[in-house]
Amino acid sequence: MIAEVDKGECIGCESCPEFCPEVFKMEADGLAVAYTNPVPSECEETAREAAEACPAHCISLE
Ligand code: SF4
Repeated sequence: MIAEVDKGECIGCESCPEFCPEVFKMEADGLAVAYTNPVPSECEETAREAAEACPAHCISLE
């Protein structure tokens, strides 16, 4: 699984690192990035939860 954040849509709510800090983090620009790819299998469920909870719907998982 590959996680990606569309920074053009991210509103910097800091939700995704709370769900899945192993895959998502906030950067100095205040926006999120997916920094662990491929997503470790043990993190796939929380990565999905982070994507579903994203208010901007800007996390893609493939
Ligand atoms: Fe950005 Fe979505 Fe993460 Fe919020 S949950 S920081 S909007 S990618």
